[in-house]
Amino acid sequence: MFRSDSHTHTTYSSDVPKDRPASVAQMCAAAAELGLSYYAVTDHYDIEHFKTGILPPFPFQKWYQDVLAERERYAGKMYVAAGLEYGEPYLLPEYYDETIHAAPFDLMLGSVHYIPGKTGYLSYPYQDMTEEARIALFEEYLDAWDELVHTPGIDVFTHPTYPLRYCLRKGIPFQVSCWEERMRIMLRHIVEIGCGLEFNAATYRVQNTGIPDHTMETVLRWYKEVGGEILTFASDAHFSKDIAAHHDFAMRVIREIGFRYIAVYHNHKPEFHKIEC
Ligand SMILES: [Zn+2]
Ligand SMILES: [Zn+2]
Repeated sequence: MFRSDSHTHTTYSSDVPKDRPASVAQMCAAAAELGLSYYAVTDHYDIEHFKTGILPPFPFQKWYQDVLAERERYAGKMYVAAGLEYGEPYLLPEYYDETIHAAPFDLMLGSVHYIPGKTGYLSYPYQDMTEEARIALFEEYLDAWDELVHTPGIDVFTHPTYPLRYCLRKGIPFQVSCWEERMRIMLRHIVEIGCGLEFNAATYRVQNTGIPDHTMETVLRWYKEVGGEILTFASDAHFSKDIAAHHDFAMRVIREIGFRYIAVYHNHKPEFHKIEC
């Protein structure tokens, strides 16, 4: 079976400690061990953090050399793709071109992780907020996601239900159904511009509350219904143990929703592989 992982991190990402065994070489070795045919290194690049000096400049050249070395090492067995998780690009549109051409990327992921001047969605005290405040927070997120899907240069849009993931992890039930109309418009736009969406399987991870998170599946159904065909699989691994996590389960879910192919990107072009499960 063709197995891929199109969204993973290494110690080049600021949320991966430098002493974690998660270098490009270590993550690729773990991916090869799992028998993946395609593995994308997509480190974080939340643009505002790099352009306001919160983080030092991203060493694109060194990073790309590391990715190329692993591509050569596994040639013929596993393709190691060069990607970037470009966060909040719409905040500083003057850097679109520079970022997109910073290395010969295979794929450019587009993400929203935070609103400027506010806490990242990962860290909100959702359990201490009123329902109205949580709803307002998700609406603000959708405003940002709307800006993101109108950003040029993105190949695949990531985790569309990102804040809900952390809400559920803190034991707060939350549905996306009341935003169906709004999200369908954004998903239709993704289809119209020929971009892809990812199945972010991190949604199944760290469920310490026992509340199952099916929001990603709901959004994928809408995406399929509005004509979406380009779908990638993403573990969003920040540890080697999470590479391709929940892959086979996700393939069954995706097939049940009606998708027959999973996409991987080479030089910004999707390549389709039949889902076998
Ligand atoms: Zn992300
Ligand atoms: Zn990520």
